[in-house]
Amino acid sequence: MPSLIQQVRDAGVIGAGGAGFPAYKKLEARVDTVIANGAECEPLLFKDKVLMEHYATEMIDGLRLVMQQVGANQGLVAIKHKNRKAIAAVTRHLPAHISVFEMEDVYPAGDEYEVVYHSTGRRIPSGGLPLHVGVVVQNVETLYHIHRAAQGRPVTHSLMTIHGHVKQPLTAWFPVGMRYGEALEVAGGATIEDFVLLDGGPMMGKVVTDLNTPVTRVSSGIIVLGRETHLAERKAQAETAFKRIGKSACDQCSLCTEMCPRYLLGYPIQPHLVMRALLTTGPMSDTLTHWAQACCECNICSLWACPEELDPRNVCVVTKRDLKQQGKWLSAEQLQKLTKDVHPLKAYRSVPTSRLLRRLGLHRFTADAPLYTAAIAPERVAITLQPSVGVPPTPLVRAGSRVAVGDTLAAASETALSVPAHASIAGEVIEAGQSIVIARV
Ligand code: SF4
Ligand code: SF4
Repeated sequence: MPSLIQQVRDAGVIGAGGAGFPAYKKLEARVDTVIANGAECEPLLFKDKVLMEHYATEMIDGLRLVMQQVGANQGLVAIKHKNRKAIAAVTRHLPAHISVFEMEDVYPAGDEYEVVYHSTGRRIPSGGLPLHVGVVVQNVETLYHIHRAAQGRPVTHSLMTIHGHVKQPLTAWFPVGMRYGEALEVAGGATIEDFVLLDGGPMMGKVVTDLNTPVTRVSSGIIVLGRETHLAERKAQAETAFKRIGKSACDQCSLCTEMCPRYLLGYPIQPHLVMRALLTTGPMSDTLTHWAQACCECNICSLWACPEELDPRNVCVVTKRDLKQQGKWLSAEQLQKLTKDVHPLKAYRSVPTSRLLRRLGLHRFTADAPLYTAAIAPERVAITLQPSVGVPPTPLVRAGSRVAVGDTLAAASETALSVPAHASIAGEVIEAGQSIVIARV
């Protein structure tokens, strides 16, 4: 019988909470606590809530398996207290050593650092991992996939919410590789002509205009917004523009820093100092400040805090890129020396989701996005082999190969961080390169 680590790897399970880290790697840790992260905080995304309401038994079994594997004696399921139905569904199936931890309905409640701090009182060291404080965190959908992996069932579908300007907001299991354009049709299609998609939610998601973009194992949701809405325009701003405007308009009020969740946790991040660096001259000197390095890219500074509507978040993002390229990235030990105590006002600076929705101009979207249960059967899928983290798998099929749902299309590297890819529909492979394209026959 293969180990759980091998089963999870063979099933191609990656973190469904956004980062896409291969799930098997976390199972090699030895810790005392495992947290099932269901504290979904991106406004208008409901897939974790739906998963806990409908698949609580499977998710808890995945949590139990992970606890057994890593030697943990404590399991916690982090859920926002407003999600009463999910709490009730999970509570019904809880064994003695697993409990629910209720979280406030604030942003970014689902951030790993926030979840670990609030539910255990432990602070992940800056630049470190939860396992450094004895914790493994897995998203609730990832745990569902781990439960299935233990039965030899690979990841072929991703649970996603479709919301915004669509006829019928919903959450559904979409086959990996299905076009976003087709996924929109499942939700009745867009109700406006000129739109863009926010892939991954309004706060951390990116603007996508290509409807051929395929669903991946990390896809969590798409929000349909008018191309000319303020939020879509702000998110689409080019680097030259947000740097030029930031350089001329930042008045150094430091509200971005005062509201930054990572700064409030004591980490060495100060976005107003990153903005100040824009004023310096010399090759790349405007982005070579270590005060950006601990940024988690949550967007509170740009979309909530800044009274001038500047973009400190994206300035932090490009600063991190430049620090890496210039070999000026600080080590975890250096960052930890700069870490301070948790800010005494942290508890008073939370950002309530309802007010955030209003600030983003999304408060008109009040509909829930319930589980859609009818079969979703695209004629064609394009399964990308390029992972968010790790090494791409090697194709095992070629044009003309016939595949069934769940067949392995590409094998993981044996020597590097890597997971295989599997067929999400039955059919014939018509292309096998960086993506594997399957057409139904
Ligand atoms: S909140 Fe805006 S104006 Fe104030 S320091 Fe930050 S970027 Fe500058
Ligand atoms: S995006 Fe802004 S608020 Fe969020 S962690 Fe980075 S600097 Fe702080």
